[in-house]
Amino acid sequence: MKIFDVHVHYPWWDAEKATYLDRLRRVCEEIGVTRVALIGRRGQGNDEVEQAFKRYPHFIAGLAHVVLDVDTPQQIREYAQRGFRGLKVILPSRNYDDPAYYPVYQEAAAQRLVILFHTGVVGGRMDDPQRVRLRPYGASSARMHPIFVDTIAMALPALKIIGAHVGYPMYDEACAIARFRPSVFFDISGGETVRRHLLTRDLLGVEIDWTKVLFGSDASSDAARVAAETRAWMAALRDRGVGEEALNRLFYGNAASLFGLE
Ligand SMILES: [Zn+2]
Repeated sequence: MKIFDVHVHYPWWDAEKATYLDRLRRVCEEIGVTRVALIGRRGQGNDEVEQAFKRYPHFIAGLAHVVLDVDTPQQIREYAQRGFRGLKVILPSRNYDDPAYYPVYQEAAAQRLVILFHTGVVGGRMDDPQRVRLRPYGASSARMHPIFVDTIAMALPALKIIGAHVGYPMYDEACAIARFRPSVFFDISGGETVRRHLLTRDLLGVEIDWTKVLFGSDASSDAARVAAETRAWMAALRDRGVGEEALNRLFYGNAASLFGLE
């Protein structure tokens, strides 16, 4: 089975970068991941992701990290011209569906870029003073409810949208939007917690169709997490008797068609 991981973060720290692409490629080869969507960081991190997909164009699809409060349609156009296949957005100071962000979304749709929206509650120590400077007052999980991508999908049906983590923990909202908006997909990344929620609540294939879910590991500098998440999901789903057709869609087919690979 071919596997496409749509949610992998390029590392933050220089010490981890030097060996990263080799580690990622080795892990992916072992587990059978043939494609990853690699997420940058505004500035140098996006430049490094560009170098990565230019070096491995059949393995890496680049997602440029965009700051909705700062970046302009012109910058979105430039990312598209440089060969990025999509954008990653997180932690805006206004709700995702604020009209202020529409020019960016419109340009992304015009350039046929996928947008990966973080949806739901953001993990980690976001009150760390070293990191909090990166975002304006108002940014929080409250700005990233999955319901906001509904407004965007209604206004821009051509825009290809992935919501991360099936909206953790707003799964009902996320599943209902995916049911009715053809352009909206969700990735199942989020590790053990999201996996437990999706499985014990029996959401996959019931509340959200197999055609609307994408595999993502949310791995960062620990490339091994790609393999760990692939194994954990594969085992859990096979254990529950999920068929090969559904697995193929989740692990590869949906992402491949969303990113225009086939
Ligand atoms: Zn992530």
